[in-house]
Amino acid sequence: MERVYNFSAGPAVLPESVLQQAAAEMMNYQGSGMSVMEMSHRSKTYQKIIDTAQADLRELMGIPDNYKVLFLQGGASQQFAMIPMNLMKNRVADYIITGQWAKKAWQEGGLYGQANAVASSADKTFSYIPDCSDLPISENADYVYICENNTIYGTKFWDLPNTKGKPLVSDVSSCFLSEPVDVTKYGMIYGGVQKNIGPAGVVIAIIREDLITEDVLPGTPTMLRYKIHDDNGSMYNTPPAYGIYICGLVFKWLKEQGGLEAIQAHNVKKAKLLYDFLDSSKLFRGTVEKKDRSLMNVPFVTGDPELDKKFVQAAEAAGLVNLKGHRTVGGMRASIYNAMPYAGVEALVGFMEQFEKNME
Ligand SMILES: *Cc1c(COP(=O)(O)O)cnc(C)c1O
Repeated sequence: MERVYNFSAGPAVLPESVLQQAAAEMMNYQGSGMSVMEMSHRSKTYQKIIDTAQADLRELMGIPDNYKVLFLQGGASQQFAMIPMNLMKNRVADYIITGQWAKKAWQEGGLYGQANAVASSADKTFSYIPDCSDLPISENADYVYICENNTIYGTKFWDLPNTKGKPLVSDVSSCFLSEPVDVTKYGMIYGGVQKNIGPAGVVIAIIREDLITEDVLPGTPTMLRYKIHDDNGSMYNTPPAYGIYICGLVFKWLKEQGGLEAIQAHNVKKAKLLYDFLDSSKLFRGTVEKKDRSLMNVPFVTGDPELDKKFVQAAEAAGLVNLKGHRTVGGMRASIYNAMPYAGVEALVGFMEQFEKNME
């Protein structure tokens, strides 16, 4: 079985042991005589799968009891609308624009109320995180919104913004479970799972319980209300049952790795290898301000778009795939999520070294 090193930004690499377990359980899940895919979500067997997934996630992240965990659908993009529909009581929210995903969320927020862009790094193609220690937070803002790790541009908030007491809502799609997190600093943490946790189709939302109310914007569809999903244990309708099962396997895998401290150390080591090389290379360079570098998504360029193209093609032929940068940035991007082994980054850096030598 020939596996490649997959640097895709998402859907992205998953732990091999998880894929193997899913394969082994495909035809007959733990003596049930059927696949998890074929199982009633109302069965005892499935209830145990979703309950265990939630319990393991709570343990990994240290989620306090006054936060609810919801397994939802519709991608991270659907949250761009669900968040204002459910949380914009005053119809005012402040957004920090650090990339395309934050911008899309902000634009969507504007459909429902006054969405203020209180900071932005658009002036330098989102290559940094603006200073958010003293922003003009609106008096009556219902929340302050960030995209914590900017998948496309490769930046990360290493300090959370000072929200001046307003609930912080954070899209963590591309840094979910990559490091320990203090959940109490947030009103809501959410992400699509296809970057770091599981198959596309599942969104996990962790929401402080006082923010989940019946008081939503008029016309909010039932399916888009947090309260209905919370009241029904994420089973108001058929949940993305198989996807949640895979997420559960990844949570178990993370616990086996030693939890979020251990995975963080692993991620730091991987990212350091790549960034150190970029900083010493004469051919390649990173595109992000050093202090704001992501551990998950590493964009880099040679400065020559034709050469970038050649590099991506040569890397692909060597089994290092999906290194093409996002169309708005160009160049390359290596996404090195939790499940990317250290050996994968070693192979990439070794290949880049050789490519550079061959240029001389
Ligand atoms: C991928 C991504 C999204 C969009 O996710 P979908 O599930 O495709 O809607 C949103 N935010 C971030 C940070 C992402 O990386």
